[in-house]
Amino acid sequence: KVSSLEPREDHRICVCVRKRPLNQRETTMKDLDVITIPSDNVVMVHESKQKVDLTRYLENQTFCFDHAFDDTASNELVYQFTAQPLVESIFRKGMATCFAYGQTGSGKTHTMGGAFSGREQDCSKGIYALVAQDVFLLLKTTAYEKLDLKVYGTFFEIYGGKVYDLLNWKKKLQVLEDGNQQIQVVGLQEQEVCSVEDVLNLVELGNSCRTSGQTSVNAHSSRSHAVFQIILKSRGKLHGKFSLVDLAGNERGADTAKANRKRQLEGAEINKSLLALKECIRALGQNKSHTPFRASKLTQVLRDSFIGQNSSTCMIATISPGMASCENTLNTLRYANRVK
Ligand code: ADP
Ligand code: MG
Repeated sequence: KVSSLEPREDHRICVCVRKRPLNQRETTMKDLDVITIPSDNVVMVHESKQKVDLTRYLENQTFCFDHAFDDTASNELVYQFTAQPLVESIFRKGMATCFAYGQTGSGKTHTMGGAFSGREQDCSKGIYALVAQDVFLLLKTTAYEKLDLKVYGTFFEIYGGKVYDLLNWKKKLQVLEDGNQQIQVVGLQEQEVCSVEDVLNLVELGNSCRTSGQTSVNAHSSRSHAVFQIILKSRGKLHGKFSLVDLAGNERGADTAKANRKRQLEGAEINKSLLALKECIRALGQNKSHTPFRASKLTQVLRDSFIGQNSSTCMIATISPGMASCENTLNTLRYANRVK
């Protein structure tokens, strides 16, 4: 139903919302679906039937975005209106970034890395794979064939303000800034990739590294940012770069109140980086001269992807449909609303 809309070109940042279906646990708990997507770009949160206290009934809340996807949307459809319009820019020496932002369990990894079936993840259907597919298609077109480009992949994680290489046994890496304010992640593995299959193998390797030694996939991954990059190089020199970022879960409040000290520190670090990200995106959108990149490792590392005339960004805010997630959902929608 969104096919009538063309991706917009004039935008600095395109912000979309994706609602996932109610899952089995929510259905069993008789949680209610409180989110409707009445049109291609509107999200409504229905709280009005709930009496908050003796005097107050909450209103329905309505938010507008570039696109809103309901629970029937496929990864392909979401891709078509978010990351896909940015792919070609990296062939024109551009920098592109796509963020997945939202509460743990709302569908960030599903959107970026593909669907899970049982415990196994099928990466072939996520945005990583879809970007790779288009990159290799464009590489073979006459316009870009003569550039003699090579494609590389990197995959790393930012946890507690530190960078870990997911393609090298989670090796801890230093981030340095040179005199020209160029940021370098020292020793980050850049693996050459020649096909979509190569890219999927990298994603799989990184994912297995990401979750190794952890009791559950979400336990650890929800508290770290995962950055997958597809890099184009021409004769050894950087030509363009697409960063695909699966952000740490943005939940807080009740979720962290009962947590131990380690969890609280993790939570504080995540809040800091997500706040810094918001501030950086907003500063760039308003053409402010100062952009607070150094406020977090996340924004520092992604600095070159943001800055400059030739950079473009999109954000996919993922939301859970349930009444039980309402508070987190509203926080996600407010954040997404602030960066657009
Ligand atoms: P997150 O990475 O935000 O913590 P996940 O991507 O792991 O969340 O999603 C949590 C669960 O919900 C997974 O089992 C995933 O397969 C499922 N899920 C998420 N989004 C969708 C969707 N749009 N359609 C179907 N299932 C989904
Ligand atoms: Mg995840």
